[in-house]
Amino acid sequence: MKFGGTSVGSPDRMKALIPLINDPDRKIVVLSAMSGTTNSLVEIANLLYADNINDASSKNEELRAKYHNVVEELLSEEVYKKEGHELIDSHFEYIRNFTLRVFTKLQEKAILAQGELISTSLLHLLLKERGIKSVLIPALCFMRIDKDGEPDAFYIKENIRRELKKYTSETLIITQGFICRNAYGEIDNLKRGGSDFTASLIGAAVKASEIQIWTDINGFHNNDPRYVENTKVIREISFDEAAELAYFGAKILHPSSVNPARENNIQVRLKNTMEPDDPGTLITSESVLLDYKAVAAKDGISVLRIRSDRMLMAYGFLRKVFEIFEAYRTPIDMITTSEVAVSITIDNPEFIDQIAKDLKELGAVEIEKDLSIICVVGDFRTERTGSAPEIFEALNMIPLKMISYGGSPNSLSLLIDTSNKIQALRMLSKHLFN
Ligand code: ADP
Ligand code: ASP
Ligand code: MG
Repeated sequence: MKFGGTSVGSPDRMKALIPLINDPDRKIVVLSAMSGTTNSLVEIANLLYADNINDASSKNEELRAKYHNVVEELLSEEVYKKEGHELIDSHFEYIRNFTLRVFTKLQEKAILAQGELISTSLLHLLLKERGIKSVLIPALCFMRIDKDGEPDAFYIKENIRRELKKYTSETLIITQGFICRNAYGEIDNLKRGGSDFTASLIGAAVKASEIQIWTDINGFHNNDPRYVENTKVIREISFDEAAELAYFGAKILHPSSVNPARENNIQVRLKNTMEPDDPGTLITSESVLLDYKAVAAKDGISVLRIRSDRMLMAYGFLRKVFEIFEAYRTPIDMITTSEVAVSITIDNPEFIDQIAKDLKELGAVEIEKDLSIICVVGDFRTERTGSAPEIFEALNMIPLKMISYGGSPNSLSLLIDTSNKIQALRMLSKHLFN
């Protein structure tokens, strides 16, 4: 059971978790940092990178004061409050120490880990005060990524199982989402929103009967509720469909979090902590096909267009193109080709200039930035007729820069300017779902 930032976002919300986790079923509870905390920690880290010690210190003290208030409201008895205040001070003294030293990526990762370390300790303390038995197993004892930043499934499985063996009679186990160690044993993390990923990695490692992601909305909606009104919850969705939507921007799930569940065929349930009786969304290996099921959008996309007469009737050309992306460890999202040109999108622009420079050896190169991929999930099996006209009808006022169809039986993707994204999502909602 993973509870996200808003689900632990205030003392009241934390107290409201108790009835959800306090039953005889053995479970592992994964917590995010309280909402806003990781953003504040990122700000502190950025100030320290900029050598702005004063602002970093005052931001740190501001956050410390906020947490002392949380302790006052969360706990009732003096002994537990005292323990809570000491805990908060130890974390913020730890962060304060970084203002006195050279600041590097290593320190940044250590600072970012504090949010989850605090939220789990606070819940553990609250349960102790209420007389509810729980164990806190530190994620840093078992969660690990390898040299490529990918989770080390074998290490995770061996180590969490060893930890769990110490507590075979306990039913309520708490741990941190998001944080991990890297191949060198240093503190690291699974990237922003990574607590969902923690939950599914743990679920897979312990062969859980179900992975539950508790958040602030009653499941997967058919469009992005941040931009579109009247979105509707989808009750059942397949791993493939959910993975596609998460990858293409549906913030409710971290993009990598479907994989471990799918590989181990463990169902995932998305639930709303504010409405725990609502059934939410169930993600399994099967689901009913619908013409159109949902839409999501991913920003920060750049396209590289390579044009070369050498491509005409040639073989091996694309290999040379792909090798350049591989050399810069830059994954490709979308690709379309014609006989003499190929367009490729990426979401990590870090090496875009170097990639373009190398591609120029192969042909003329053009770059365009500030783009979004719109992903429509539905029934796009290639033997079907009649799928997709509503999509083009909906978007007939919006320039389409690339279309990807036939790559997957359950999705169609389009590339547009980010400035047209909200309009595109709204028009798709109107034409596909209402
Ligand atoms: P948590 O802190 O619990 O991890 P997130 O903010 O990461 O929560 O994810 C939940 C949010 O995702 C929702 O409040 C909603 O605004 C946003 N969201 C974006 N797309 C979707 C979608 N298709 N379905 C549901 N929620 C979505
Ligand atoms: N606290 C982390 C973040 O804000 C991880 C998470 O919430 O999933 O990104
Ligand atoms: Mg999240």
